[in-house]
This record gives sequence, structure tokens and C-alpha cells, in this order.
Amino acid sequence: MKASLKITLTILATIVLMVLAYGIINALTKNLLEERITITVLVLSVIAVIGVLTVVATVYEANHQTKKDKLVNVGEDQHPLALFRYCPVCGSSDFVAKQDNSKTCENCGFNYYINPSAAVAALIVNEEGELLVGRRAHHPAKGTLDLPGGFVTLKESGEEAVRREIKEELNLTVTNAEMLFTIPNRYRWSGMTIPTLDLFYRCDVEDLNKLKPLDDVAETFFIKLDYIQPEDFGLASIREAVQHFKEGSVPFIS
Ligand SMILES: [Zn+2]
Repeated sequence: MKASLKITLTILATIVLMVLAYGIINALTKNLLEERITITVLVLSVIAVIGVLTVVATVYEANHQTKKDKLVNVGEDQHPLALFRYCPVCGSSDFVAKQDNSKTCENCGFNYYINPSAAVAALIVNEEGELLVGRRAHHPAKGTLDLPGGFVTLKESGEEAVRREIKEELNLTVTNAEMLFTIPNRYRWSGMTIPTLDLFYRCDVEDLNKLKPLDDVAETFFIKLDYIQPEDFGLASIREAVQHFKEGSVPFIS
């Protein structure tokens, strides 16, 4: 729960309970107790309510944090299928790593390989030769610079994916996409490390004036190639790609 929401709910709950407590106490003690006693009881009730709400909020936060910790505890150095402890076919716990990218069920023989998920990223340059970059709105690497892009979905080509992502994230229409190079990467998500193969496209767009950051992008801006600092980019493959784009080189080919 967000802190601001928690504070608002606490204030609202306190006001409602104050009114209720005042009404009840007033009705019960009418003509029997002095006004100052009513006020004292009311103040004590409010303090008790605030105390209870604080305890409830603290316990909720502690439980939530424990769940979160459990989720991210699978280390990056472990087998990529470490989270998959049971065979998805027969439910056996004899689902064991046979290779560094596969697990086999010793009960029913089911065999599963994990291979890279395809992802796309776009290099878009304006008429002044400046590169379009965005700032990441979410984790991982929240707040660092990034190129627009995302995962390729089922039955989609890389070109379709880059066109879709640029529309979703920037409100721009891609008119041409030329694939420059690919870089393997590891993307930390939901407690596991997903191996990816990032496809980098040099994209032309219809009308840059329609640029509007949406979706996963906090802000966008253009940077002159000379001023680009690859270390400002939070994701390893993007950092490497920006460096290669700046130098006009192709990775893995000497
Ligand atoms: Zn099985």
C-alpha cells in the first residue's frame, strides 16, 4: 500500500471513529458524567484507534515485505530454472537440472529447455543527428536512461514488435526498421533471471512532432551522439548497444 494512501485511510478512519465514539459516549453518559469526562474518554478512544491502526499497518507491511523477499531470493548465479521445483506435467519433485539450460522429470520423462526470450529496442535519430532516449519509469533500473522497446510477444516478428512498442511507448509510427545487431542480456523479473536476446533496430518514424511518452517511459529527450554517456543506461545490453551505435561498430564481429 502506498504511504499517502495509508495516511489518508488512517485519517478518514480516525475521523469516522471519533464521530462514532463521541456519539456513543454522549448518548451513554448524558446527564450522568461531566463534559470533561466525556472529552477525556473521547481523546483516549482516538489515541487507541490510532495505535491499533499503526499496529495493523506495520504488521501488513512486514508480511508484504516477507512475501517480496521470498520472491527475489533466487540468486542470479543459480540455475535459470531454479524456481521451477516441480514437474509441470506430473507434479513430481524429481524435476532435476540436466544441463545449464534444461530440467528433466525423473518420474515421467518430461524435458524442458529455457532459451532466450526475444526483445527489441529502437534507435531513433532526429534531423540533427541526436538519439531519442527515455528514462525508465519502473524497475528494473528505474530512473536510468533506456532505449524504447520491449519483449516480442507470441507469433510476432521483431519488426512488428518494434513497431508496436514505439506506438505504445512514444505514440510514434515506425515507417522503416533496419536490424543492426543483437546482444544477449539477462532481465531480472518476478524473482527470476530471464535470458533475453535483444534485437536492435534503427527506426525511421512518420512524424516526430507526435512524440508523447506513454506506458513505461517517464520522460523522453534527444541527446547528441557525442554527449551520450553509456554508463547512464541502466540495462547492460542497452549500454553496450548505445556504445556500438555511437562508434558505428557491430558487437561480436571483430
Ligand atoms: Zn513429470
